[in-house]
Amino acid sequence: MRFLLKNARLLDPGNKTDIEGWLLVEDMNIALVGTSQEGHPDVSGVEVHDLQGCWIMPGLVDMHVHLREPGQEYKETIETGTRAAAAGGFTSIACMPNTNPCNDNAAVTNFIISKATEAGYARVYPVAAITKGQKGRELTEFGELLAVGAVAFSDDGVPVADASVMRHALEYASSFNALIITHAEEPSLATGSMNEGVVSTLLGLKGIPNACEDIAVFRDTCLAELTGARLHIAHVSTKGAVEIIRLAKRRGVHVTAETAPHYFTLTEEAVTGYNTFAKMNPPLRTEEDRIAIIEGLKDGTLDAIATDHAPHSVLEKEKEFEAAANGIIGLETALPLSIELVRQGYLTPLELAFKMSYNPSHILGIGGGMLKKGMPADLCIIDPNVTFTFKKGDLFSKSYNSPWLGQKLKGRAVMTIKKGCFTHKKSG
Ligand SMILES: [Zn+2]
Ligand SMILES: [Zn+2]
Repeated sequence: MRFLLKNARLLDPGNKTDIEGWLLVEDMNIALVGTSQEGHPDVSGVEVHDLQGCWIMPGLVDMHVHLREPGQEYKETIETGTRAAAAGGFTSIACMPNTNPCNDNAAVTNFIISKATEAGYARVYPVAAITKGQKGRELTEFGELLAVGAVAFSDDGVPVADASVMRHALEYASSFNALIITHAEEPSLATGSMNEGVVSTLLGLKGIPNACEDIAVFRDTCLAELTGARLHIAHVSTKGAVEIIRLAKRRGVHVTAETAPHYFTLTEEAVTGYNTFAKMNPPLRTEEDRIAIIEGLKDGTLDAIATDHAPHSVLEKEKEFEAAANGIIGLETALPLSIELVRQGYLTPLELAFKMSYNPSHILGIGGGMLKKGMPADLCIIDPNVTFTFKKGDLFSKSYNSPWLGQKLKGRAVMTIKKGCFTHKKSG
């Protein structure tokens, strides 16, 4: 396998470079990279892709995905989820443990890795549970889970309610230099179904205040400071959480954080009309929060953009608002929604490559995120200007619970390459 990608904008966070150039792939690896002025080597007989107007980034990395298998294959399988990831430009994803059975033991971790290898669309890195059965009491076997391929620990879907359990989890994790990912939520305040505010009052729905997230983020950054452990905050949605993380980073706490495209794109207004495709946890917040999230991405407080891809079938979503399940799919919309931040001048294309590839891969410690000679050719080729309608029939995910269904989006992955092989190619 040998091919040349030429006339593209190469965005390499590894070298902090943004150049017009070409990239040669050989034997599954990046063989050579150069600028357009330098000219490429003789490539007679080699497949050439002229990528005028496109960007080449290292393959995207999504550190927060729910693949639903084992246990809820009617919503998504490892195969359909990773196929959707490839279509969205992702070459690596980390999957959360709230499956059935839950990923709290080596057998489930092994199962996920072997299914993902069989499917072949993306590298899958399992996140194992912090506590057995995600019940918030007894810690799982961190050493054993790391040995079989878990890359981090999280009880995502539910918070670790007891602060002393979280403290012990962080202490235990630090002995392995392992990462704890927190679903930051104070459970006693999480009894509503949307953001607490004007819209919840108008709709007559019980709300969840920002304090629900802020308290938990503050608690966990304090515990990370106490233990010296590595903490990552999932799906940041509030202005307060951004500020707490910003201050913790200034104090030298080992904390990183992610947000998801819906938190910098939508507000609580999207719930109007009791739209269950705008129901998620944490809930969509206010315009003030949305702006604070963008500011957090800009100044580096928020390190990564992750999707929190959460497929659900009509059974869970076509219900009364309060009874409907939380979450939306995100793998196939994350890139166009994030490119919008570039178009609006909040991030440069290179900064976007940091948020969607380099930073998450470094937080997880999985390598990659760079366009470097000799590295595996994990690449995402993006046409930032192509427009398309996000339609049910075009999706690779098994579920279609997305607030962007039927809408026009701009910018997408036109090719995804994992280890030198095309895992996605958009024709036309
Ligand atoms: Zn969560
Ligand atoms: Zn999640």
